[in-house]
Amino acid sequence: MSDPLSLNRRNALFLAAGGLAATGLGAGTARAQGTAPAEAGSGSGSGSGTEGEAMGVDDTRPFAPGWRRFQIGEARITVVLDGVRPGEGPFPTFGEDQTQEAVGALMARNGLPRERFVNFFNVVIVELGGQTVLVDTGFGEGGRANGMGLLRARMEAAGFSPGDIDVVALTHLHGDHINGLREAGEPAFPNARYAVGREEMAFWTSDEARNGPRAENARAVADNVAPFEARTTLLADGEEVVPGMVARAAFGHTPGQLAFAIGSGETQVVLTADIFSQFVISFQRPDWHVRFDQDKTAAAETRRRFASELADSGAAIIGYHLPFPGLGYVEADGEAFRFVPETYQSLARG
Ligand SMILES: [Zn+2]
Repeated sequence: MSDPLSLNRRNALFLAAGGLAATGLGAGTARAQGTAPAEAGSGSGSGSGTEGEAMGVDDTRPFAPGWRRFQIGEARITVVLDGVRPGEGPFPTFGEDQTQEAVGALMARNGLPRERFVNFFNVVIVELGGQTVLVDTGFGEGGRANGMGLLRARMEAAGFSPGDIDVVALTHLHGDHINGLREAGEPAFPNARYAVGREEMAFWTSDEARNGPRAENARAVADNVAPFEARTTLLADGEEVVPGMVARAAFGHTPGQLAFAIGSGETQVVLTADIFSQFVISFQRPDWHVRFDQDKTAAAETRRRFASELADSGAAIIGYHLPFPGLGYVEADGEAFRFVPETYQSLARG
């Protein structure tokens, strides 16, 4: 076993990072051996010709090679960073109903800049019970001019080809989650079936969505999601994506957002989608309004409900927009909460 962390196999949860894994192996070989190449920049795992050039894994990008792997109970989880986006903020995207001063002060108290913010886009690949499930798809080719849309290249570097994906499960239908469903006009994951929230699909295909202020996103749904209708399972709260991976209603950010809970007990991990999108504000000030939450009251209620439950259970979470790889835990802190990023908790767990 060449996995450098194989001594910890007794643990229910262990992790490997691209940077720790064996070098000099092709992606296919690496996958078969349960390790992965640390190589980046050659583009060898990401197609050929000009596409390969454009999609090659660039190790000068932040967080290269852009993927991390964790074993959590029965599930092997690979988090692939579709991209990072620095910019102004987090106010007014976060704390829209507050002042710049109040938001800036909270950031400063947490050792962060008052008016600069970095957003992350964490796509998750779940291998469970012989099925490979991709959760959300990033920006796709349309994001590459801006340094996003790296899922395809980076998942290849992590040992997956697009044809390996059995199921694409979508937490919700915003562009940064669905635009990677197609590549050059073709299905990006040619062997996949799809799983989408029933309420989510109903909203984005409604006249209300198509004609209102969200028409542009509804068009993205029509282009990227609707063509796969015949291969799509509509999920309700409590239904399984695959055995051991359960959809949980997390409405508010969008009308039908889903979280996905994988495993149970001490080895549960919950993919929390956009319930928690900023690792300080979402936990320490769960009631503050977030511009992208469609129903701000429902979104805040969902944040508090999930945070309380996660603080009680100790389950791990992976947040789509939390700092890569987005894995951590929720602690109660007075009337609010705190996000505790994974450092070595999982390895120390007996
Ligand atoms: Zn999002």
